[in-house]
Order: sequence, then structure tokens, then C-alpha cells
Amino acid sequence: HQQELKLLKGTKAITKNGVEMEINANIGHPEDVDLALENDADGIGLFRSEFLYMESNQFPSEEEQFIAYKTVLERMGGKRVIIRTLDLGADKQVPYLNLPHEENPALGLRAIRICLDRQDLFLTQLRALIRASAYGKLAIMFPMIISVDEVRQIKGLVEKVKNDLTKEKIPFDPHFEIGIMIETPASVMLSDELAKEVDFFSIGTNDLTQYTLAVDRMNHSISKLFDSRHPAVLRMIEMAAQSAKKAGIWVGICGESAADTSLTEFYVKIGVRELSVTPSAVLELRRAVQQIDIK
Ligand code: PEP
Ligand code: MG
Repeated sequence: HQQELKLLKGTKAITKNGVEMEINANIGHPEDVDLALENDADGIGLFRSEFLYMESNQFPSEEEQFIAYKTVLERMGGKRVIIRTLDLGADKQVPYLNLPHEENPALGLRAIRICLDRQDLFLTQLRALIRASAYGKLAIMFPMIISVDEVRQIKGLVEKVKNDLTKEKIPFDPHFEIGIMIETPASVMLSDELAKEVDFFSIGTNDLTQYTLAVDRMNHSISKLFDSRHPAVLRMIEMAAQSAKKAGIWVGICGESAADTSLTEFYVKIGVRELSVTPSAVLELRRAVQQIDIK
């Protein structure tokens, strides 16, 4: 079986009826690029940047972050690398951030909420990211979005960083893409408006399932209820995909259920064009796409 999958390296994920999908890898550390390349991923669909903050006992400097992002971009050699900004809080805590104790951390100060609250930290990460854009094909993605206002604030900060770098004569690629994760029911309901603000959507089915079904993704006693194939979740995904299509932007999926091959045909049909999965699942998924034939 493994031998058979190896033969798919160098081939593309195209359905029998000619729809081309991008099959990317999710990584959580620059070293994981080895696995992405070994499994012939088309790019990186989700680079979780939390490792930088979790492995340190103070906030990582712009330079440290820049080097990590640049390394991944260079090693991917011009293939798209989607880096997600800080997604701490909830299950991922670091002591030096001094976040308040919360009764409901999954509904608390996490991800983009921390970044918009502590803009100094956010601007440091944005500078490191945008500087790294000079070394490959970067896309930046923002987690846990619930409003158009958040996206406008983010875009304002991105513009500020671009202006600063231009003034300082520091090189960057002005054409990098900006996208948001669709992982809250609010972002799905507003997806028609959000789609006008960004270049792409990436659907985070882990959190989207948690928040749609009101089922804590960390709670083992209700893990049977955590179902990314629940019809409510599938309708959410379809609605976001339709909004993306209408606005002419691309849509991908980077949560665990991107790798669920029993859903691949559904994803293709509703217009999803990128799937990002753990590196070891890339070739299996490529094969699943190649077997699809939509009449
Ligand atoms: C998700 O929520 O589906 C996702 C991809 O992000 P994370 O698992 O890091 O929350
Ligand atoms: Mg998430």
C-alpha cells in the first residue's frame, strides 16, 4: 500500500472530470517541512506559529520569528506557505503572556482576540511575517474571526507594517495573500461580507465543529458527539464555500476532516479547491481526488 502511494509522488490531484485540487500539509514546526517535502505536498496549508511562543519563556523576538518563517518559505522553494498568526489561549497557554484565568477558555481571550488586544505583540509577528515574504510565496491567515470589523483592523495593521518597511527600505513582496480561518459560526453567517475583504478562506473544521455543535473538542466524555460530518457542520462548510465562490476567492479546509476521504467528493462538489492535512495523509488524499468522477 505504501509502495503504491509512493508512485503518486510527482502527480497532481486532479479528478477524472478535470478539477484540480491543491493538497497541502499542516505543520507545527519548521522541521516538519522535511515531512511535507517527503510526502510531496503541493505546499503548506497551515503552519501553526504557536511553537515559537510555546518553546520560549519570553515573547519571541522579530528576528527569531523572521528566521523561522524565512526558513520554511525558502525550503518550500516557491510553493505556497500559509502561515497562521498566533493562536494561543484556550488549550494553549504560555506563562509570560499573563492571561487571566478564565471559566470558559474556549470562549475566552484567545487567538486574534489576544492579537488585537496586545497590538505590540501582533505588530512584531506581522513585521517578521511580511519581511519573510521576500523569500518565497507567503500567505498570512488569521484565526478565530467573528466580525468584519476585526478583519478591517487587521488589514489596517498590515498596511501600517508595509508602510513602515517601505520607509525603512526593508524588502518584502507586496503581493502576498491574506486570508481568514472560518472556524466560528459567526464567520460562516457573515461569510458573504468577509469574502469581500480577503483573498481566501480556510475552514478550520476542528473549531467549527466545536462551536457549531457546542461540543468541547478537548472533553473526552462527549467525544462521541464531536462529529465533523454532522449535517449542521456540513451546511456551515457549504455556506462558506458558496460565499467564497460568489466573491471569486478560493476556499480550502485545514481542520482534521480535510483528510476524511469519505467527504472529499462533497468538498470538490461545493467548490473547495485546497485541502491541508497532516503530511502523512497527503498522498492518500491525492489518490482519493484522482478517483473522483463528477458527472
Ligand atoms: C481548526 O480549528 O480546525 C484548526 C485547523 O485549527 P486548530 O486545530 O489549530 O485550532
Ligand atoms: Mg482552530
